[in-house]
Amino acid sequence: MPFVITDPCIETKDTACVDVCPVDCIHPRKDEAEFAQATMLYIHPEECIDCGACVPACPVAAIYESHDATPSHQKDLIPANDVYRNGDADAMAQAEAIVQAHIAAHPDIMAIPAAERAAAHPNFS
Ligand code: SF4
Ligand code: SF4
Repeated sequence: MPFVITDPCIETKDTACVDVCPVDCIHPRKDEAEFAQATMLYIHPEECIDCGACVPACPVAAIYESHDATPSHQKDLIPANDVYRNGDADAMAQAEAIVQAHIAAHPDIMAIPAAERAAAHPNFS
């Protein structure tokens, strides 16, 4: 089951995970034109080989190891990871819409600084 990027990536987006991924399945990369438009990064579910290298690399603990491990209030971001395809305008727009809906639906979580958000995830249902 693929790894999932969640909302601490929003406002962080530092690409530390991209640098350690052995199969380059985290998109978009910083050197791609799409990077500026993306509110967060995404793991391609079919390209991810579940190696786990990205988890300790993320400075804000945004990455969960599976759909099951992803907190319930973050599961709405799973389809964003699934649908995002670099260079596909429709797919990118779909992912962005999901992320914006998540931000709108969770003002309480998003009010927490990104660096502290993952630690606070257990406080939300
Ligand atoms: S688990 Fe491994 S393959 Fe999957 S996104 Fe993370 S670093 Fe890449
Ligand atoms: S390391 Fe974490 S915060 Fe940085 S881009 Fe990857 S998932 Fe986002």
